[in-house]
Amino acid sequence: MQADVLILGAGPAGATAALNLAPDFRVLLLDRLPTPAQRIGESLPPAARRLFADMGLWEEFLGQGHAPCHGNRSLWNGAPAEQDFLRDPDGHGWHLDRARFESWLRSKAQERGAALLAPATLTALSPVAGGWQVLLETPSGAMQLQTRVVIDAGGRASALARRLGARRQRQDRLVCAWLYGREAGVGGTDGLSHIEAVPSGWWYSAALPGRRRVLALHTDADLPAARRLRQPGWLQTSALATPGLGALLQRVGFIATDEVRIAAAHSSALQPGAGPGWFAVGDAALSFDPLSSQGLFNALYTGLAAAEACHRQLHGEPTASDDYRQELARIDGAYRQHLGFCYSQESRWPDEAFWRRRQVRTAPAVRA
Ligand SMILES: Cc1cc2nc3c(=O)[nH]c(=O)nc-3n(C[C@H](O)[C@H](O)[C@H](O)COP(=O)(O)OP(=O)(O)OC[C@H]3O[C@@H](n4cnc5c(N)ncnc54)[C@H](O)[C@@H]3O)c2cc1C
Repeated sequence: MQADVLILGAGPAGATAALNLAPDFRVLLLDRLPTPAQRIGESLPPAARRLFADMGLWEEFLGQGHAPCHGNRSLWNGAPAEQDFLRDPDGHGWHLDRARFESWLRSKAQERGAALLAPATLTALSPVAGGWQVLLETPSGAMQLQTRVVIDAGGRASALARRLGARRQRQDRLVCAWLYGREAGVGGTDGLSHIEAVPSGWWYSAALPGRRRVLALHTDADLPAARRLRQPGWLQTSALATPGLGALLQRVGFIATDEVRIAAAHSSALQPGAGPGWFAVGDAALSFDPLSSQGLFNALYTGLAAAEACHRQLHGEPTASDDYRQELARIDGAYRQHLGFCYSQESRWPDEAFWRRRQVRTAPAVRA
């Protein structure tokens, strides 16, 4: 079997790369999950509108019925603040039904001509003249294929890029524990995300489509709070005891419906993020602290940018890979500056390890 581009991972970044390459090239998109799972990470900033418009998907995205997000309400440094999107030229943002969003992107990639193989994964990869020889594992057995370019869109593990010698540089130890529930109260939701700093980290909560709500605590993996995350009932009890969040949860009548789940949420960057015949996109290239709410935007943006770079590379332009790496370095630099600024705005707990670590961010930025 022959392909021009093999994309490992059909999440937001991989599906975006696929749907932008499929009209011009033979694209194979593969994922270990047959259908997208319900995952944390649902806030999409208003600027995503421009990417959907560039990809010819804006009207269709609007028809998907995701919930509008009108801004953030934060309790940061003790002061309540609202940052609304009223004056944002792109309008409001979104609280997505994440599984529905990912299924939609996968289907767009297929409609534009990509072949989707799921469940499937990659078990071997070796360079050959003009590209790569790849071995895939599928439910019907092993499959061999040749491709000119490979794209790692497999998320934070960067499984494909690490096979090619790239390394991830982790900048902190942030983890997130979260819980889904429903809103049983009579009051409506105001479409704002809630963010609240506490000595051991910060809380996040947002209403989701269908009167669902997510509740999440972010802290460092080596701090005492992280050890308590798995204790039955601890997350919800702590949330209710947190002044602003507790009041919000009471008001909306939050009732937990799922078990607590925990995932890595640290900032990290792949070095390098592209090389001869390969690119990394989304979290596989750069993973962001959820405080930035930029992970999905970055997945869409780098999916599109890598598709353009891949296009150029397949047409023989020698600088395509370097240009893409420089773009990643630019994104990483801007992200770190912004994140450092956000954390520096909370100054109540200079002696708490979580906040002390974030007052000085010395890790060098990604090199192009
Ligand atoms: C706690 C938390 C909260 C977050 N909140 C937000 C938020 O509110 N807003 C926001 O914008 N971002 C948020 N993010 C970040 C956001 O979820 C990610 O940036 C986004 O999912 C990245 O998309 P991706 O396509 O690069 O990777 P992923 O979404 O991780 O997709 C990777 C895909 O690759 C597949 N895959 C992985 N390995 C293999 C393999 N070996 N073989 C085959 N398939 C494979 C997976 O099944 C998956 O479908 C959050 C992240 C965390 C951890």
